[in-house]
Amino acid sequence: MAKVTFNEAICKACGLCVEACPKKLLVIDKSRVNAKGYNVATIPEDKQSECVGCASCAVMCPDCVITVTR
Ligand code: SF4
Ligand code: SF4
Repeated sequence: MAKVTFNEAICKACGLCVEACPKKLLVIDKSRVNAKGYNVATIPEDKQSECVGCASCAVMCPDCVITVTR
């Protein structure tokens, strides 16, 4: 199963990864804020198993926040 991880400290909540995911799995978590004052992108726990490991989200992120392992 593919796993998506986020270096949340450098996320700026631009939402490009959310748009890039063909399965619409990613969300901006409005309940969390990083040290820079931004909300952070995440994959809900119950959606992780639906990830196909395409890495579109990681490629799209301008700040290299996302790592996809499979
Ligand atoms: S594309 Fe990168 S910086 Fe933008 S919300 Fe997604 S993880 Fe954060
Ligand atoms: S690897 Fe692909 S399917 Fe998985 S969260 Fe990223 S864009 Fe979506």
